[in-house]
Amino acid sequence: MHDPDAIPEPTFDYIDTSWMDNANCRGHDTNLFFPERGDEVAAAKQVCEPCPVKAECLAYALAIPGTSGIWGGTSGRERRQMKAGKPRQPRRQHGTETGYKQHLRQGEPPCTPCRAANTAATRRRKHNKDQNG
Ligand code: SF4
Ligand SMILES: [Zn+2]
Repeated sequence: MHDPDAIPEPTFDYIDTSWMDNANCRGHDTNLFFPERGDEVAAAKQVCEPCPVKAECLAYALAIPGTSGIWGGTSGRERRQMKAGKPRQPRRQHGTETGYKQHLRQGEPPCTPCRAANTAATRRRKHNKDQNG
């Protein structure tokens, strides 16, 4: 049988946490940074605002899924919005006819490989048409 106590706790050793030594929130009441639903978060954010490791803290919280509480001056909800709002690059297939059409749809001049692919495809279709009658 597996001994559940023998299963090691997951660690995030591979993520640099040395910045935490310079955290402005050290010594502050932890409850401030892990508010209950509806609690005031302004006080925690005021501690984050001048924090020298604010950027590292936010990057850390964004890198670890599901962090709650105030990190780097943001709430969990704000971080979820940041992640959701990140504009996704449309998948491009340069050097293809599809890529050519994607360029046009985005209202931008097609790149050279896409233009070449479109020209070739057009020629191919014309050639086939000529052959078939
Ligand atoms: S940004 Fe805020 S939560 Fe993060 S280390 Fe600084 S004070 Fe603490
Ligand atoms: Zn292209």
